[in-house]
Amino acid sequence: MKAATASRREQIRAMLAGRELPGALEAVDSVLSDADSGGVTTAEAIEQLLGAQITLPSNRRLQAAMRSSRLPVMKTLDEFDFSFQPSIKREQIESLHELGFVERKENVVLLGPPGVSKTHLAISLAIAAAQNGRRVYYGTLAELINSLEEARAAGSLNRRLKVLSHPSLLVVDEIGYLPVTQTGAMLFLQLISRRDEDASTVLNKSFEEWGAVMGDEVMAAALIGHILHHCHIVNIRGNSYRMREHTELWQALHSAGSATPRPLPKRPKKTREVKTS
Ligand code: ADP
Ligand code: MG
Repeated sequence: MKAATASRREQIRAMLAGRELPGALEAVDSVLSDADSGGVTTAEAIEQLLGAQITLPSNRRLQAAMRSSRLPVMKTLDEFDFSFQPSIKREQIESLHELGFVERKENVVLLGPPGVSKTHLAISLAIAAAQNGRRVYYGTLAELINSLEEARAAGSLNRRLKVLSHPSLLVVDEIGYLPVTQTGAMLFLQLISRRDEDASTVLNKSFEEWGAVMGDEVMAAALIGHILHHCHIVNIRGNSYRMREHTELWQALHSAGSATPRPLPKRPKKTREVKTS
């Protein structure tokens, strides 16, 4: 493609602006620069320009959903490296992202040690649901309990419970990082029992640990009862993705230091995930 002159660029911009094609207008400069520098072919440039326009409404919807859902970061399944986490059954994760569980108001529990992608997958499920036009909400356990406690103090607990029961998908993250008061545990149980059967919740805590999180075995048992009712369990057994550079460094150092590199320490045994629904 011949380099677009400045005046031709202006003409193109004016045409796009005049026809209310904001997505294409936003992308046109970078697409033309890529084409001018030979980075993309003519067909690719046209595809990118049209693509920018076509995906604009869904991108805007997603951005709005990201803001209202309080998702802390954007994590999608496309960015997920299945080869790093062989204990994860790809079909199960892909099938969950088809959102039948949201339709059926079922829950998902992600189990596994730190860094193995529990938050990543919880967020990518929420994003898939948001892209599908579902209302989603993300909170750490501490944030959710705080907001319930504040509402209770302000005499608006019922309204807050209603707001938090409304989203089709609620992600409860970072469970068990901070101690929960007895009132906090009771309020959270109230929220989960309201959502039971009405909407889906994604959590990441093993059932045996809920007693310690809630500080009360009876409340923990009640909570587990609600969650387990219709529940998909994703059991992740593997290395922390955050530590992968260290593992690679370890490997590089050992390969550099000896002609016959020693093998890496064995990963924990792979376990198949259980699905209960
Ligand atoms: P957890 O919630 O289990 O502690 P995270 O989901 O926060 O772990 O994962 C830690 C970081 O590593 C995040 O930035 C996440 O996106 C990334 N990550 C983890 N596993 C993978 C993977 N298999 N492919 C791509 N990124 C991953
Ligand atoms: Mg996490």
